[in-house]
Amino acid sequence: MEKEISGKKISKVEVSNPKCLNMPLEKFRKAIVGKTIESVENRGKWLFIKLDSKCFLLFNPGMGADVIHFKPEDKLPEKYQLKVTLRDGTGFTIRVWWFCYLHLVPQDKLGEHKLTGKLGLSPLDKGFTLDYFKQLLANNRGNIKSFLLDQKNIAGIGNVYVQDPLFEARIHPKRKIRSLTEKEIEALYKPLQSILKESIKLGGLAYEKDFHGKYGGYGKNQYRIAYKPGQPCPVCQTTIEKVKTGSTSSFICPKCQDLDD
Ligand SMILES: [Zn+2]
Repeated sequence: MEKEISGKKISKVEVSNPKCLNMPLEKFRKAIVGKTIESVENRGKWLFIKLDSKCFLLFNPGMGADVIHFKPEDKLPEKYQLKVTLRDGTGFTIRVWWFCYLHLVPQDKLGEHKLTGKLGLSPLDKGFTLDYFKQLLANNRGNIKSFLLDQKNIAGIGNVYVQDPLFEARIHPKRKIRSLTEKEIEALYKPLQSILKESIKLGGLAYEKDFHGKYGGYGKNQYRIAYKPGQPCPVCQTTIEKVKTGSTSSFICPKCQDLDD
């Protein structure tokens, strides 16, 4: 996305779901049409699109979205809620699976933005060292899975990517953080990073499209125990179970990931 749209000027914006904006549509349109996109970055599940007006367009796809690039001669996707056209005739459409946020925030107010101001580091950030991870967990009383999913602690780990790292570290999702040993924390640290790296290398999840509409390659063949209930654990052959953990589902090997240790 950075490669295709940065340096280009926005000439038109269409929004059919204005509820996703943090201001009235007309005001939003006036503020971004004519501005040039300087860069595109992500922080966790958020896209940060920097404009030359010292403002950021912050986009969060909710449960998911297809953000697809187009050239003037391309046929557009059948359904989309957002369309941004650039001066050279290229642009992108966004089809939201359920809901999304598209907020325009001045650079000097980024820290005050409720949804992104307190985002934690991504496991792929340079600062996410083993010491940092240990510090983050220190003195925390909750259980490990909820902690990992809370974007204020770590940005970018969702319910898909949390399953296998917990399995690799042989930690039950409901374990109290206080009960984790140094060794377990170290065993958890590495797969939190490697799972994201591998997925990025393969273009994301198998049901997600990239900016050019191509599906990702990270799926069943890569999952260790995630989304494989009823199948044998790859380590001990015990049947993988699907269990409720708060509002989310977890996949565990009941033998490898014992709750009582
Ligand atoms: Zn097992």
